[in-house]
Amino acid sequence: MASKVEKKSKVVVVGGGIAGALLAKSLQFHADVVLIDPKEYFEITYANLRAKVEPSFAERSVVKHSDYFTKGRIVVAYASGVIETEVLTSNGECIPYDYLVIATGNDDSYPKSRSKRLEQYQEDFANIKSADSVLVIGGGSTGVELAGEIAVDFPEKKVTLVHKNTRLLDFMGQKASSKTLDWLVSKNVKVILGQTVDLKSHQDGDKVYKTSGGETIIADCHFFCAGIPLGTKWLKESILRDALTDGGRVMVDQHLRVKGRKNIFAIGDITDIPEIKQGLFAMQHANVTAKNLKLLMYGGKESKMATYKAGPDMAIVSLGRKDAVMQSPMSTMIGRIPGFMKSSDQFVGKTRKQMGIDASCFGL
Ligand SMILES: Cc1cc2nc3c(=O)[nH]c(=O)nc-3n(C[C@H](O)[C@H](O)[C@H](O)COP(=O)(O)OP(=O)(O)OC[C@H]3O[C@@H](n4cnc5c(N)ncnc54)[C@H](O)[C@@H]3O)c2cc1C
Repeated sequence: MASKVEKKSKVVVVGGGIAGALLAKSLQFHADVVLIDPKEYFEITYANLRAKVEPSFAERSVVKHSDYFTKGRIVVAYASGVIETEVLTSNGECIPYDYLVIATGNDDSYPKSRSKRLEQYQEDFANIKSADSVLVIGGGSTGVELAGEIAVDFPEKKVTLVHKNTRLLDFMGQKASSKTLDWLVSKNVKVILGQTVDLKSHQDGDKVYKTSGGETIIADCHFFCAGIPLGTKWLKESILRDALTDGGRVMVDQHLRVKGRKNIFAIGDITDIPEIKQGLFAMQHANVTAKNLKLLMYGGKESKMATYKAGPDMAIVSLGRKDAVMQSPMSTMIGRIPGFMKSSDQFVGKTRKQMGIDASCFGL
């Protein structure tokens, strides 16, 4: 008699961010799952900036894949190509799949090991602590959250934020941008909008920075908080090239299948779903896809597949430890109420719970 194990489908999940990690975890006992990620860990990205001013925070937000994904196989490598039946990796493997899920969100350049990532946070903290002045380049959520963290934890430091666009947080509405600007200014952050900083001609250790508008900024250190590319470059020469938008996002149908494909799904920030790119939505994509894959793997009808509807127009950006700015379809709010929702724990506890990570395994 053929055993159930022999019949298990082969599912390959590419990308171990919040979307891919949750999906791999959800399917591990239903299929032979392989998770491909260049790092040995998954990171709750919302906590990144808190970890720069409080490095121990990263002990809970940087989680080894092996802590939640105990049953499947982890391949620490980049996916470099896809053919009809296999994914190719940067370490020369060809990994076969019945179903493929692409979740390569953003192609960051963080260290590959958890311990090195934790060391990096210690180094960032030491740089911030020893600096009298800090330059933050980029006024999206990363730059704004970092400037807010430093301004609140180290009010004596001079913080300058330079953003190339004419308003901060330009993925949110105008109200959120101007409330955030007022908040930063009230914390003595100097905000320069509509300009860039020339880092190409900047030498390591040099404290003088020039902006495109001819301003000079003196800072003991800088953080570049812009321009993490989408993780879809590797698909450009693959069988999925026609499913990419001009901006490099992956087109998906209402079941989150890649356009024109029956057995390939895409989830998370890389999708072309018209919604603000949020981890909360990425997790919902993972849940819908897990449901659909279970249905298909256990022989269910395609017509019964779950559908995904774009998320509401909402986002929360932390402003230090107690405040935040929140946009929802109803209103835009700044201060302690949205801060209460996000800023103390940065959704780390909630996300760990959703991932089923046992806090006790870290002694926490
Ligand atoms: C400062 C900040 C604050 C935020 N706050 C919130 C918040 O409060 N709430 C919220 O819901 N969202 C928030 N977000 C958004 C949230 O972080 C993202 O929407 C979420 O991380 C997207 O998850 P993802 O899995 O799609 O992509 P990612 O988290 O980017 O993960 C992608 C993974 O794929 C890997 N990868 C890339 N290329 C390859 C390849 N070729 N092969 C294999 N693996 C690859 C990467 O290494 C990474 O591990 C915030 C974002 C930022 C920057």
